Amino acid sequence: MRTSVAIIGAGPAGALLSQILHNAEIDHVVLERQTRDYVLTRIRAGVLEWSSVEVIRAAGVGDRMDADGDAHDLINLAWGGKHVLPVQLKALTGRQMMAYGQTELQQDLYEAADRNGTALIFSAENVAVHDVTSDSPYVTFRHNGVDERIDCDYIAGCDGFHGVSRAAIPESERTEFERIYPFGWLGILSETPPLPHLVYTNHERGFGLCSTRNPMLSRYYVQCPIEDSIDDWSDDRFWSELAARLPTHIANDIVTGPSIEKSIAPLRSFVAEPMRHGNLLLAGDSAHIVPPTGAKGLNLAVSDVHLLSQALIARYANGDTAGLDQYSSDALHRVWASVRFSWWMTTLLHRFPGATDFEQRMQERELEYLASSAAAQTSLAEQYVGVPFV
Ligand SMILES: Cc1cc2nc3c(=O)[nH]c(=O)nc-3n(C[C@H](O)[C@H](O)[C@H](O)COP(=O)(O)OP(=O)(O)OC[C@H]3O[C@@H](n4cnc5c(N)ncnc54)[C@H](O)[C@@H]3O)c2cc1C
Repeated sequence: MRTSVAIIGAGPAGALLSQILHNAEIDHVVLERQTRDYVLTRIRAGVLEWSSVEVIRAAGVGDRMDADGDAHDLINLAWGGKHVLPVQLKALTGRQMMAYGQTELQQDLYEAADRNGTALIFSAENVAVHDVTSDSPYVTFRHNGVDERIDCDYIAGCDGFHGVSRAAIPESERTEFERIYPFGWLGILSETPPLPHLVYTNHERGFGLCSTRNPMLSRYYVQCPIEDSIDDWSDDRFWSELAARLPTHIANDIVTGPSIEKSIAPLRSFVAEPMRHGNLLLAGDSAHIVPPTGAKGLNLAVSDVHLLSQALIARYANGDTAGLDQYSSDALHRVWASVRFSWWMTTLLHRFPGATDFEQRMQERELEYLASSAAAQTSLAEQYVGVPFV
């Protein structure tokens, strides 16, 4: 096989890149390790920045998001079991955020790929990238028991944190930055109506988040020890722990029900630099991970893909490689802004094991400052709805 761009990974980053390249009539092939059903049932993010909404619309896959997604003008921060601060996103920044499940977006992208006739190969095994610093890179893989090879101009590494692309950049040319947080998030999905607005809560028992996927699907989280197993957490224990971390009037409004998904995720900040090595270009979680507190992981995948797709379009339209040359530094500029915001939100809202009294007072004072300062709320709001792409 010969193509212009070989895309590794068909998560949100790879599938969206494929859609934009299709619109620009740039030949490409997508290789995905998992089955289609597996990817479509993987419960993950659900909060889109407004820039992401605009990229998804421009790519021609925004119709269902606009019909079924839920635009939100504010988020609530709660602490100490009694304080509630509504942060008025739209009033402070002129922009909103959109609640729309990653699985829904993924389905929209796969349906578009079906309509486009995209070469999207699921269950691709042993994917490996070769000769990425040459003018003739190629990808090998095994599919249906047959060894295959794709020659290409560029390889887009959209294969997530555990993929093969990042590892293809020699250690001597790669710098990695990492922070592991000393707790996890226990998340559940329930077919119950969500609260009208997202609520982030900081309580002496730990962090909690009331989020939404659609009018009859709610996503809730509580901070838990990373060593915990989901077997330790019956639904009853989850609901009572979440309620204990919220002001009573908010807890009373939660409609509980059986969980249809339950999982524990570790929290990590991670960045690998650079995001380009020869003709291999990384996008999304393959290059960076953020703790989900700032709702940035999926949005960074979208912003990377926006920058990368524009660079590839310029290259194939008129041979202009300036965008590709700038891609890594432009993308990393935005990545670090989101890494910083996600770290700050995580630090502000979680209880850290072993935190000193001094550190605890600093956290409380910062929340009080936020409540008293329109400038501080604007700062939070403009980062939450998303900073500009470049
Ligand atoms: C468990 C979990 C929970 C999350 N929850 C939230 C949340 O609540 N809120 C939030 O904002 N963000 C959340 N995120 C982050 C968000 O979902 C990611 O940032 C987003 O999925 C990034 O998209 P991506 O396409 O870059 O990577 P991915 O979604 O990871 O997609 C990468 C794709 O590449 C495929 N792949 C991997 N290796 C290979 C290979 N060798 N060959 C071919 N294909 C390969 C994978 O199967 C996958 O389909 C969560 C992430 C995880 C992992």
